[in-house]
Amino acid sequence: MANAEIVAIGSELLLGQIVDTNSTWLAQRLTALGVNLFYKSVVGDNPERMREVLTQALERADVVITSGGLGPTQDDLTREVVAEVTGRKLVLHQPFVEQIEHRFRTRGFIMTKNNERQAYMPEGSIPVNNPNGTAPSFIVEDPRGSIFVLPGVPFELKWLFDNEVAPYLRRKFSLSEIITYRVLKVAELGESRVDDLMGHFIANSQNPTVGVLAHPGQVDIRIAAKAPTKEAALDLIAPVEAEMRQLIGKHIFA
Ligand code: ATP
Repeated sequence: MANAEIVAIGSELLLGQIVDTNSTWLAQRLTALGVNLFYKSVVGDNPERMREVLTQALERADVVITSGGLGPTQDDLTREVVAEVTGRKLVLHQPFVEQIEHRFRTRGFIMTKNNERQAYMPEGSIPVNNPNGTAPSFIVEDPRGSIFVLPGVPFELKWLFDNEVAPYLRRKFSLSEIITYRVLKVAELGESRVDDLMGHFIANSQNPTVGVLAHPGQVDIRIAAKAPTKEAALDLIAPVEAEMRQLIGKHIFA
């Protein structure tokens, strides 16, 4: 089973100027694909710290997905740092230059020299066209794992994940399992009481796994299973759910 790590890049994320919705969205997609997500990180536009985070991610994950830092400006450093951590030179990919030029021309703009920065990618990487923006994307196959380098603009990132990354992951890791879950919403019991009653499920279950999430006035119990089909996953969930309903049925409201 493949495991992934998301690295969201951009100082604006650390300053709290924007919320890292890309990671949340990617996490949901990876889960649905049956890829384990063990870590996600947020790092600013600082080459040293980016190097550190990306190197660590490559060492512990099979799949690293980065978001952001692919623009034309001096603080967009993702392609340089990915080239560095994978020990490759940055090379100009001529088809990217033509695509960027075309995009500017059809909108009545002239491409400035700094946009050419976006047409570089680490030598030997797999180019991925981004039809929704000027920042091209690419995949680097490193002996430690695969790095998918995606732009930060959510609309562009989502399209590229669904149309390029997900099919690539399915092929590469022969992904045939999906993860699905049911959530039992509980009222009138606090989180610690739920844990008291459900602790053995939380501690001992492997497939499905059980997790608890507290909200004001409500506790959610999540039962998540991995199987080749949604139906098979729900079959694994059903007996655990039945046992829980026996224990605390009258407190479950949805
Ligand atoms: P482009 O060259 O197309 O601008 P980029 O890869 O350089 O793409 P960034 O400059 O890092 O991307 O971000 C562009 C915009 O995308 C940001 O201003 C922000 O609105 C949004 N964005 C970036 N990262 C995230 C994120 N992790 N979650 C949500 N939105 C994000």
